[in-house]
Amino acid sequence: MTPETFEREMQVRLGPHYRLRWSDERHVWCIEHKVGRKIDFPGDSDRAIRLRDGYHLVLETLPSNLFICPECHFPTPLEPFEKQEVVCDYCKLHGSKRRHIAAYFPLVDRTLTWLEQWHPRRGAAIDQELQAHNATLARDRARARGNVAEDAALDGWSRLIGSVQFGYTKRGTPHQFGAD
Ligand SMILES: [Zn+2]
Repeated sequence: MTPETFEREMQVRLGPHYRLRWSDERHVWCIEHKVGRKIDFPGDSDRAIRLRDGYHLVLETLPSNLFICPECHFPTPLEPFEKQEVVCDYCKLHGSKRRHIAAYFPLVDRTLTWLEQWHPRRGAAIDQELQAHNATLARDRARARGNVAEDAALDGWSRLIGSVQFGYTKRGTPHQFGAD
């Protein structure tokens, strides 16, 4: 399937709330699910794009079955259709035990079947998830507004303190007032 036909077929089988998006940040295909209202968030990161569009990540899949180590660029072949923990052989030789989670789900029918089994939430379950996600977003926004208000208040406070100190210094310095 082409990415376009895969996405269309996914929307037929799993619902219109799913989309396929290429990540320039991580060089993977992202299968994403619409869960929330759009929230304004700056930048071009995957996180910013998802927040702005109101989607969350369901599955990241590499464009081929080769996992390229981000540390040394050594390739490790992956089994398709499963999420795997990869330890790069080259890095292991050099003493690093860093593990990576990677998956290769080709854009074929079997991946859609896997998604149907793994992510079959529909109807009421999706509504609940939507509400919970929107509540979290609302809380985050309220917190962000609170922080801005706090910053403004602190800024005003330090200016007030500054001017009060200045005033006292002025009035309290005998050399400036009535010293002659
Ligand atoms: Zn490596």
